[in-house]
Amino acid sequence: MKTAHLTEAQLQNHADGSEILEASASQHLSKCRFCQSQVGNYRLVVDALSDMSGPTFQFNLAELIPAEYNKKKVPLHWIAIAAASFGACLVVLAMGYYGMQLLTLFAALSPVQSYILSLPLIAFFLTQCAVQFFRYQQKLNSL
Ligand SMILES: [Zn+2]
Repeated sequence: MKTAHLTEAQLQNHADGSEILEASASQHLSKCRFCQSQVGNYRLVVDALSDMSGPTFQFNLAELIPAEYNKKKVPLHWIAIAAASFGACLVVLAMGYYGMQLLTLFAALSPVQSYILSLPLIAFFLTQCAVQFFRYQQKLNSL
């Protein structure tokens, strides 16, 4: 006689009628109140699901989810990363070599000139933030 409780898969398959239990499992089920209650709960779920009308979505969600998981990841653009790293190295070298001269160059700027120099950077940064925000909104709306 089987002493362990039935597995979740056995309980579910028995409740929805897709599997006939082995003799030992069937004998356990006839005596075990816990497994009987589990099968009863699963039968309620199966009945409730079978009473539901068709899906309310315009698409089949069960087909879309695996498709999203199986999408290929965007490959890393090694050339772009290498170029950015090379550029960063050049900037670091230039700062090391011309550091004091660059500081005196920017220290000599008037406040208006420094605003004029920093304004395009700030505008670029804000534009990029807005673009990322709108892309994020589009992704949320497409779900
Ligand atoms: Zn049991």
